[in-house]
Amino acid sequence: MWTLIVVVATLASACERPPDPAALPTSAEIRRAVTVDAIRAHLQALQRIAERNGGNRAAGTAGHDESAAYVSGVLEDAGLEVHSQEFTIPVFEQVEPSELEVTGTAGGGPEEVEPFADGEDFKAMLYSASGDVEAPAAFLDFDPAASGEELTGAGCESSDFAGFPTGSIAVLQAGPCLRRDQVVNAQTAGAVAVVVSYPGWHSGSVRRPTLLSPLQIEVPALSASSEVGAALFDAAQEAVPSPIHLRVSTNVRTIDRTTVNVIAETHSGDGAHIVMVGGHLDSTMDGPGINDNGSGTAAILEVAVRLASAELRNRVRFAFWSGEELGLLGSRHYVESLSEDERDSIALYLNLDMIASPNFVRFVYADAGSPSGSEAINDVLAGWLRSQGLETDPFDLQGGSDHGSFARAGIPVGGLFTGATELKTVSEAGVYGGRPGAPADPCYHLACDTLEEIDEQVLGEMADAAAHAMVTFSTRSPPIPGS
Ligand SMILES: [Zn+2]
Repeated sequence: MWTLIVVVATLASACERPPDPAALPTSAEIRRAVTVDAIRAHLQALQRIAERNGGNRAAGTAGHDESAAYVSGVLEDAGLEVHSQEFTIPVFEQVEPSELEVTGTAGGGPEEVEPFADGEDFKAMLYSASGDVEAPAAFLDFDPAASGEELTGAGCESSDFAGFPTGSIAVLQAGPCLRRDQVVNAQTAGAVAVVVSYPGWHSGSVRRPTLLSPLQIEVPALSASSEVGAALFDAAQEAVPSPIHLRVSTNVRTIDRTTVNVIAETHSGDGAHIVMVGGHLDSTMDGPGINDNGSGTAAILEVAVRLASAELRNRVRFAFWSGEELGLLGSRHYVESLSEDERDSIALYLNLDMIASPNFVRFVYADAGSPSGSEAINDVLAGWLRSQGLETDPFDLQGGSDHGSFARAGIPVGGLFTGATELKTVSEAGVYGGRPGAPADPCYHLACDTLEEIDEQVLGEMADAAAHAMVTFSTRSPPIPGS
């Protein structure tokens, strides 16, 4: 059988004429064709889809299904081979608003603390359990004035809960670990609910961190602003020696639903050396997701349209993932469902996630421990940007977007990013302009992540860098030199 396979493979490659180098597209041609106007039109379509579907395009909802249909339509019209990969995801839904209030102290009447507002001051975490509990608050190494490096990270280790009063509501600060770890550790120590306050999050900018899976989550878990944390802490200080009592109520559910990854491929190019570019199509349940990640989606779509009928040396595959915001579910499912041969045929994966942040830095991926070949991808991206007089900085996303699923499978990865909640440093502001001390995208995972907020200049620059890289990788052999 082995001999036969070799013969067939030889015949197949003999039939496949290498393209005439003069017929290959150039970077300049494709970049000229990829325009900000065309990208904006896709973003407008995505924003309208969110508007008629409750303000979001989250995985497992009608807004995401419509986004997938839109993307598929554009790809099909361009003449690409399009395929929808169905899979099941746990979709988190809020049935009723959650509640958080100070109900009083063990020793006396209620404190003068107004009830907090769901959506503004706090949110139920993604995959929180339902529950309605009233119990004393127990603070874990809580310092309302701490931020960043000064945070103790209390709750990240189960040993942090030694002596924790069983039956209380744990009040923590977000630590340098998974929120899931803090919540599971609290619950294991006997907490009946968990409130995690985030230094730097203020009323109106509270996000909904993911617990990654509903499995093993048994208690209500809330994320809260720094002001909520400080108010609870102050009330507790005033009530000493009695603990304050809190009420936490969540009415939520997690339901398995079908969703799709949209995958498209060029007809031209060698299928044994596939050059892949992708980004997540889903938004969070809290906003339309125009920077995160309409921006990457729209740029990939335009590159796809412009490369669709080009003569290529290597085949190009375009991916629009679902379930990224729930924990990279779509890309993980895709990579896990590849056969070994299919996995080996993917030469590289380029990820675009958030490339139009209003207070941007031009970041090129530089994740520590990325598979060999990754640096070569990022060098092409950074090299082109620098050749245009555009500064870049390396950024370690720690596998925090869909490239992480590919890196884990040993596939070289690269990508572009213009920043999320990271605060712009003074030196970054000196290089890129914008506001030092402010987040790269103040609307990250919020309802205000709309077309009005994005920076079209940087969007065009990053789309051009991606177009340049895709032309480079799809027209040379091998896609990554030396591989
Ligand atoms: Zn994203």
